[in-house]
Amino acid sequence: MPLPKGRLHFRSNLVGVRIVLVEDNLQLANSVAEGLGEDGYAVEVVDTAAKAIARGLRRDLDLMILDLGLPDRDGIEVLKELRGAHIHVPVLVLTARDAIDSRVAALEAGADDYLVKPFAFAELVARIAALVRRAGGPRWAPAHELPIVMRDDLVIEATGTGGAITVSLSPREYALLGCLLRRPGEVVTRAEILREAFGYDFDPGTNVIDVHLTHLRKKLSGFPVAIETVRGAGIRLTVAE
Ligand code: CA
Repeated sequence: MPLPKGRLHFRSNLVGVRIVLVEDNLQLANSVAEGLGEDGYAVEVVDTAAKAIARGLRRDLDLMILDLGLPDRDGIEVLKELRGAHIHVPVLVLTARDAIDSRVAALEAGADDYLVKPFAFAELVARIAALVRRAGGPRWAPAHELPIVMRDDLVIEATGTGGAITVSLSPREYALLGCLLRRPGEVVTRAEILREAFGYDFDPGTNVIDVHLTHLRKKLSGFPVAIETVRGAGIRLTVAE
């Protein structure tokens, strides 16, 4: 599946969209992950149904791309398990099975979309964008309305300055900012930040968020945003008018 040459890559408006790709053909998986990565998606690859279910149950995904022919269990079983556990992440089935029966079975089990291999990469990207949009995520305004561009190299850039105003962040500061920037004006709870930005499923009982927040606030002093702590609720990033 060659990637089209000379394709324009968009970034920043999709940074932070978290995709898990369930695919046991690692050559295909790596090719797709690389292509989506260039488009700014964060892609994780898992190669079994069991891992897909475990990953889905963490509830922090924006999209799952699901192969049906997996080595341990059928992909349909992954769908049934996740939907049964009230996991509503959009699922795009990507499979060589092209029979109508198979499509119907996947959609009835809770798939949101179905694409048959071999496929055109451009169509996969377009379908992903449509699913993410329909799911209401990424829940931030289009990139041109945000004052910060998040580059892949952990550098943030003031929008419209052509790279004249940039700041380097640590990976955790970057993840923390991404988490807040996805939902400008909304209070993000500490539990959500711990999970989405730091990968904790539990509260480590430290002030890890506040430490990084202090550094991040200093680094953002030249940007028209404010990050406030809302006592007992969480953290909110607001964009100056
Ligand atoms: Ca397969």
